[in-house]
Amino acid sequence: MPRILLVEDETSIADTLVYALETEHFEVCHTTTAGEALEKLHHHFDLAILDVGLPDMSGFDLCSEIRKSSSLPVLFLTARDSEIDRILGLELGGDDYVTKPFSPREVAARVRAILRRMGNPPPPPTSEPSTLNHNPSAMTISCHGKPLNLTAHEYKLLAALMSQPGRIFTREQILIKAWDDPGSAMDRTVDAHIKSLRAKIRAQTPEGKDPIETRRGLGYTLNPDSL
Ligand code: CA
Repeated sequence: MPRILLVEDETSIADTLVYALETEHFEVCHTTTAGEALEKLHHHFDLAILDVGLPDMSGFDLCSEIRKSSSLPVLFLTARDSEIDRILGLELGGDDYVTKPFSPREVAARVRAILRRMGNPPPPPTSEPSTLNHNPSAMTISCHGKPLNLTAHEYKLLAALMSQPGRIFTREQILIKAWDDPGSAMDRTVDAHIKSLRAKIRAQTPEGKDPIETRRGLGYTLNPDSL
C-alpha cells in the first residue's frame, strides 16, 4: 500500500482526505504541523500532501526542508491564487497542487497520477545506458535509468532541449516551448529552472556532471553525447 504523509492543520479537511485516501487503499499518516511532519520523515513515504498554510511554517518552507534530504513527491493544497503563482513561478520542487475547496476524490486522483508518473518503469537498459531518456507518452525523462522528479516547466524545458541536441536555444525560444503564457515569464525564470534542472540531473549522475551547456549571451544547448 502506498504511504502518504498528509500535513494539514484543519481537522475537517484532514479527516475527509484521510477517509477518501484510505478508501482508495492508501495508508495515510496525518500530522497537523510541519515540525511533526519533519520528525516523521525518517519513515518511508511514497508521497507528501502539504497544506500551504500551516501554523508553524509554510508548506513551501516545509517542502524545501523535505527537499534537503529526499525527492519525495509533493502535492500542495492551496487556498489562494497567489500561492499558485509561487508554486509555478518559483522552484519549489512540488509535483502538483490542488486548490481549496477541492473534492477528496480529485486529490486521490492527483495522488494516483503522480505515483504513476514516478513509478513509471525506466526503459530497459541497452548495452550502454544513455544518460537521458525521454518517454513522451508517459511525459517522463529518466537519467541513468531512473526517472527524474521534474516539475511541469522543467519537464517541457528539458524535452525541448532534448528534441534538438546541440542546437542553441535562446531564453525566449525556451519560454515559448515550455511556458503556456511566455509573456508573463522572464529570462531569469528560465535561468532558475535550468539551475534546478541541472541539480536534479547531477544528483542522479555518477560523475556529478550535467549535459546542459550555457552559451554566454546566447542561451542553452544540450550536449548530444548525453543521449
Ligand atoms: Ca491551513
